[in-house]
Amino acid sequence: MSLLILNRQEVRELLPMRDCMDVLAAAFRAYSSGESVQPLRTMMKVPETDDILASMPGYDGASESMAVKLITVFDDAAETVLDSHQGLVVLFSSDHGNPLAIMDAIEITAIRTAAASGVATEALAKEDASALAILGAGVQARSHFDAMTEARDIKTVRIWNRSRNGAEALAAELPPQGSVDVTVANTVQSAVSGADLICTVTAAAEPVLKGEWIQPSVHVNAVGSSTPSKRELDTDAIVRSRLFVDSRESAVNEAGDFLIPKSEGAVGDDHIVGEIGEVLSGKAPGRQSRDEITLFKSLGMAVEDVAAAHLIYERAKAEDRGVWIEM
Ligand code: NDP
Repeated sequence: MSLLILNRQEVRELLPMRDCMDVLAAAFRAYSSGESVQPLRTMMKVPETDDILASMPGYDGASESMAVKLITVFDDAAETVLDSHQGLVVLFSSDHGNPLAIMDAIEITAIRTAAASGVATEALAKEDASALAILGAGVQARSHFDAMTEARDIKTVRIWNRSRNGAEALAAELPPQGSVDVTVANTVQSAVSGADLICTVTAAAEPVLKGEWIQPSVHVNAVGSSTPSKRELDTDAIVRSRLFVDSRESAVNEAGDFLIPKSEGAVGDDHIVGEIGEVLSGKAPGRQSRDEITLFKSLGMAVEDVAAAHLIYERAKAEDRGVWIEM
């Protein structure tokens, strides 16, 4: 039995943002139509730390493929040369069950998460959105720049980060995209003032974005928090927004951004307008007026990894990339 091994660089080259957004849109529709299978992820806490080892299996009905992502999230990344999220995606044949490929998960996670926000932005943001605020300056901040410039004609980008150095480093690293003007903001409030799109991509446990700072007509992609006790947005931000999610099941089990306001009695489950796959299929209403605030709460779904891994594998075979080993 032959197995294809693909490293980080190969994954990056085989998964352009636009193509990833297209396969994710199909995966979202399939998931929300009940064609896919995705149990809640298993998260194991490493004793006496906040570090996590997670397992995310899934079957994507759109590509008829299946995989499992094994990923760690470690807090001490800033003190090492390592990324905070590391792991592997193992792709299996859905015909015979044999493993087909093992590939780096750092790059898949970076690209597919931003691509999910890109799909949501194309579906929910106003057409002429051009001013982007990014809160955070890590791996996701970088890939969200690519996704947002793919989704809309971005003219200005303001980056806020907990440490200003990180924001400056990201601003210097971003590739020139036409005449995009990139600046660093000292406060979250100044970063989001005048923004049409806001991406929250921090590892914060307490809110960094307040509802009172979000202007009408904005679309927010809330990406950073993915456990019930952590949130990046305050209660007011959730209450003021029309809320869309990747998966209802994940949102009501894992999303601190939603569950904390819910525990305060500020919102109920009916505050979730729909899954992004329902919006794409016309089963849930998207943006209804120019002035409303739309909010996409992203938790990250296994089917996103599956759809991306399937595309990478097919491309790698066609382009003769990677290394084959005999098992
Ligand atoms: P990185 O480790 O690359 O970057 C982390 C960022 O968060 C840095 O900008 C860091 O700032 C900032 N940060 C850390 N702690 C705080 C804090 N207490 N308050 C404010 N900012 C803080 O992580 P990634 O970019 O890979 O991931 C960002 C977030 O997105 C994480 O929470 C991660 O779990 C989540 N994520 C969500 C996914 C999804 O599908 N929804 C998928 C992958 C990740 P500084 O530079 O100052 O350290």
